[in-house]
Amino acid sequence: MINNLKNRIKKQLVPKSKLVVLNYHQIGETFDPNIHNENIWNSVSLFKEHLSFLKQNFKIVSLTEGLEALKNKTINETLISITFDDGDASMTKLALPILEQLKIPATFFINTAYGSEKIGYWYNLGPYFKDMDLINAAPIIRNTIDHNTYHELLKLENQCNEKYSGRDSPFYANYEAFEKCTNPLFHFGLHGHEHLRFSMLSREAQKENLLKNIEHMQRWPNYVPHFAIPFGKPHDWNADTLEISEELGVVPFLAHHGYNTFYRQPFLRFSVDTKNLQSVFNSFSPFQKSYDKLNHLNN
Ligand SMILES: [Zn+2]
Repeated sequence: MINNLKNRIKKQLVPKSKLVVLNYHQIGETFDPNIHNENIWNSVSLFKEHLSFLKQNFKIVSLTEGLEALKNKTINETLISITFDDGDASMTKLALPILEQLKIPATFFINTAYGSEKIGYWYNLGPYFKDMDLINAAPIIRNTIDHNTYHELLKLENQCNEKYSGRDSPFYANYEAFEKCTNPLFHFGLHGHEHLRFSMLSREAQKENLLKNIEHMQRWPNYVPHFAIPFGKPHDWNADTLEISEELGVVPFLAHHGYNTFYRQPFLRFSVDTKNLQSVFNSFSPFQKSYDKLNHLNN
């Protein structure tokens, strides 16, 4: 009885009109520890369960359409947009065919440096090549707030890329499929040329990275000027990142849990890898606190 009441109260707190942007990374039939990461991997069967739950309960729109609805204030229900970060190999092999079959739109945020120029970055290079220096450095590269430490440790990543250069990347999709894609269901946006923490870069370096990313992608027929800031958590970007986005005419997105109820940049996304989607939708409130905090900081 009390639980029912609590649930009712909780539900009332969640606004009906909102854009919920979901964020995925990798999917696979079976988990391969050499190329997958348990925190950002979904089994194909769980991914399909997600899609069927979403289709049954909500209207799924492209990110562009979702933003338009917020901008024009025509939103009067919960709209869902599906996004994938990084350009993982499973995008072309699995995600695109599944989404195409179900006629579900999605936006893919791509790092253009990988697959051709470089094999990958510390996140996937360390475990794949069993590079212990890189594996040990990973948590520091991910979390440090010291620019010198960050750049010093990234030298290990460069060494690894140089050592194995010329090999095909085992991690990334063949981007030709994206470059040629004209299917109106699928859009391709920016995720940085390299997958770097923008907060650790000078303003000039941030701009250079994003410009390279734009230059590579702007001729792709289904390119959209949307930018998922790499990693996208609060200590991965700064005021420069948002100013540069505005200067270059791209719309920034975070991986900072929250839904969007009005048109204000940066937009928020839920990471839903490995998660039970139903439980995410049933407990929006805890996530939303971070959204309110962020908006408070922006005011
Ligand atoms: Zn990413």
